Amino acid sequence: MNHECPFCKSGTQSLGFASAEEFLAIYNISPILPGHSLVMPVKHAKSLFDLNEDEISGFFTFARKVTAFLCDVYNCEAYDWSLQEGMEAGQSVDHLHLHIIPRKPGDLNKDEDWYGKLQQSIDPANKERIIIPEREHRQISVYLKEQWEVFKT
Ligand SMILES: [Zn+2]
Repeated sequence: MNHECPFCKSGTQSLGFASAEEFLAIYNISPILPGHSLVMPVKHAKSLFDLNEDEISGFFTFARKVTAFLCDVYNCEAYDWSLQEGMEAGQSVDHLHLHIIPRKPGDLNKDEDWYGKLQQSIDPANKERIIIPEREHRQISVYLKEQWEVFKT
């Protein structure tokens, strides 16, 4: 645990809608499209290279299941994954996380817009960044958690 880290805060972790052993899925507070969620290790790990092989396997197995879940709930067949490591790659929070973004036909003007929007959504200085209100975030998280309980069985 890292006290400076927004993803290590118990308040953030308690909003997780799905978990598996040492991994957690939370709904992004600044989603670029409906369903945009993050999968991360519960413990503070900065990098994929800080996970051992079993953890890597657990991370991606869980991420794949969460992706199938989000595509089911948001009724789509396509998705983007983005994992940014290091400032030059656009990493905003120093705690390993994978963005999962469900995609629908025509959801963005140009398919490649998602990367620009992603950069906008993770930059606290960007005025066009949309952050969903805490109450709404909690409602979405509770809803997804209920759906996950049904889905995972
Ligand atoms: Zn952390």
